Amino acid sequence: MKMIPDRIKKEILSYGADNIVAIIGEYVPLRKSSRSYTACCPFHKEKTPSFTVDPGRQTWRCFGACSEGGDVAKFLMKIDGISFPAALEILARKGGISIPNDGYKEESERRNMLNVLRRAQQFYHNSLLQNQNGAIAYVGSRMTDAMVRQFGIGFAPLGGKTLVEYLDKERFPLDVAEKAGLIKKEDAGGYRDIFRGRVMFPIRDKTGYIIAFAGRTISATKSRYKYINSPETPLFRKSATLFGLDGAIEAMKLKGEVYVVEGYIDLMQMWAAGINNVVATCGTAFTREHAAILKHYVRRLNLMFDGDDAGRKAHQKAILLAVKEEMKATVFIFPDGQDPDSFYKNGGKTENLVTMSGFDFLKQSGIEMNATMQNLHRLERLENGVAYMARSIPAVARLLAKRGNLGELFSQEFLPGIEEIIIHHGGAR
Ligand SMILES: [Zn+2]
Repeated sequence: MKMIPDRIKKEILSYGADNIVAIIGEYVPLRKSSRSYTACCPFHKEKTPSFTVDPGRQTWRCFGACSEGGDVAKFLMKIDGISFPAALEILARKGGISIPNDGYKEESERRNMLNVLRRAQQFYHNSLLQNQNGAIAYVGSRMTDAMVRQFGIGFAPLGGKTLVEYLDKERFPLDVAEKAGLIKKEDAGGYRDIFRGRVMFPIRDKTGYIIAFAGRTISATKSRYKYINSPETPLFRKSATLFGLDGAIEAMKLKGEVYVVEGYIDLMQMWAAGINNVVATCGTAFTREHAAILKHYVRRLNLMFDGDDAGRKAHQKAILLAVKEEMKATVFIFPDGQDPDSFYKNGGKTENLVTMSGFDFLKQSGIEMNATMQNLHRLERLENGVAYMARSIPAVARLLAKRGNLGELFSQEFLPGIEEIIIHHGGAR
C-alpha cells in the first residue's frame, strides 16, 4: 500500500464528499426526496427505505436497524469490506487524483516550489512599493492601494536578471525556481527572469498557495503580449486554474452562484465593490475543468465576458459546459464599451445590468439546441412564468401555498424564491 500524503488524502476525501450521491448511487439505487436521497439500506434487510444520503452534509445514515452512518469512505469500507487506505485508493481512481509513487519526495519538492513562489511574490511586491521603473504610475491608474495589498500585486523589474540575482543571494536553489516557472535557462548558461517589466498578479490555488503569476506589461508598445502567464508547471495548469477561487469559495457556497469574468482587474474591481463570489479565467477560454471545479460550489454561472465576437463565443461555450454539468447560466450584458472593471469602478450596480438566460442566449445566437436542452429551456420559462404570476397575482401565490409540496413543482433553485413570494403574500407555510 502506498503512503498517501495528507494533502492528497484531503483532496481525495473532499472529492468523495462532493460526489457522495453519485458514488453511493453506484451501489444503491437512490431516490431523490427533497434535500436528500433515500434507498433501502444495503446493510440490513428492510422493505421501507431508511437509508439516507445527504449531499448537503456530505454524509449517509441508516435510520433503521443499523443506525450507522458516516462519510463516503466509511460507506466503501463497509460495503466492500476494505480498509481505509483501500477506500481512499478507490476514491482517488474515481476522481482522477493521482497518488504519487514516492509521496514524500514529491511532497517536499512541492513545498520547495511553493516557498520560492511565495518569496518571488514578496520580491515583486517590494519592487512595486519601491516604484521600480516607475511602475506605480501605471498600477495607480488601474487599482487602489487596498487592492494592491489585498491581492499581493507586485512588479517584475526590467533588466532580466533581477529575480535570479535576488533568489541566488537568498540561497534559493535556482533549479527549483526554474521548475516553478519563474526563471529559465539561457543558451549561454546561467538563468534569466521570465517576467520583465510587468505588473505581477499572484495566482493561487483553492487553498491560497501561490502557484503561478500573470504579468501585464506596463508599456503599450514594448511587448507583443499584453499579458503572459507562468508556463505550465507541476503546480499550475492554466485550463484547470481559476484566479480568485481561494477567496470566492465561502461566498459561492453561501450564494449558490458565481460571477465568471475574463480579467484579473475585473475581479479585483468587483471585490472592491463588495462582490466576492467571482472568479476569473487565467487568460484562457472557460474550460470543462473550470465548470467541474465550480460545480462543487454553485448551481449557477453568471457569465461576464466581453461583448465582442470572441466574448460571444466564450459565452456560448461556457453555457454549453454549464448545461453539461447541470448548472444554469446567465449572461450579463454590459453597456457599450464597458467591462466589469470600468463598470464597477464607476459605481455600477449589478442589478442595473441587462441579463439573459443561457438558453435564451444560445437561441438568440442561433445555436442548435438538442432535445434535452430545449426541454430545460421550456421548464425554465415555465418556472419563470409561474414565479412572475405568483409575484404579481396574490391569488396565484395563495393557490401555490395551498398546493403545498412545492419541491415537486419547482427545481431547487426556484424554491426559495417562490417560498418567499408566498410568505410575502401571507400564505401559511
Ligand atoms: Zn441499515
